[in-house]
Amino acid sequence: MPLSLLRWSIAVLILCLVAPAALAGEPPRRPSSKRAKKQLTAKASIAPKRLVRISGGERLRHDAAASFEQMYSEARDAGLRLWVISGHRSWQEQKYLYRLYRRGLGPRAARPGRSNHQRGTAVDISVGSTDTLTYEWLAANACRFGFKRTVRSEPWHWEYRPRTTPKPDEGEDCLSRPLTPQNGASQGVATPSPS
Ligand SMILES: [Zn+2]
Repeated sequence: MPLSLLRWSIAVLILCLVAPAALAGEPPRRPSSKRAKKQLTAKASIAPKRLVRISGGERLRHDAAASFEQMYSEARDAGLRLWVISGHRSWQEQKYLYRLYRRGLGPRAARPGRSNHQRGTAVDISVGSTDTLTYEWLAANACRFGFKRTVRSEPWHWEYRPRTTPKPDEGEDCLSRPLTPQNGASQGVATPSPS
């Protein structure tokens, strides 16, 4: 093959590899400048003064915290302790967890700026699995307090979304069963287990 043709072929090959990405027009996956990162940080994070400490020591946005405390109290009356593993996270904390995840050293974690833990509205509760008393109680009652599961693969991850979490009918729990004082977890005290 003549040298000029070889060069031309290489140029075409490079163009084919680079052009689709350029034409796709995807937004940059990471902030491209310090200013952009600052804007993303501000948008994704919550001001510390709006955070309130909840039972167990973690913090949530004030309205999420108030609702969580009501839920915590009712679970306790039913004989359960809602053991919170993670509440609000700073940008740095989320970045650290995301790095661990990317290196295969930790559980799945959202990219910094994409996690509702940074907004103070997500809470990880130690449920063990989906057939424990704690999980069953949450599935039957969390919606009454505006909390719902949002990540299919994470039964421990609950988010405070009162506007999009349907409340059950009067006298019913989240599974449309009659609501009684002993709902969910009257059988005993579940042992919390880290997940
Ligand atoms: Zn979570």
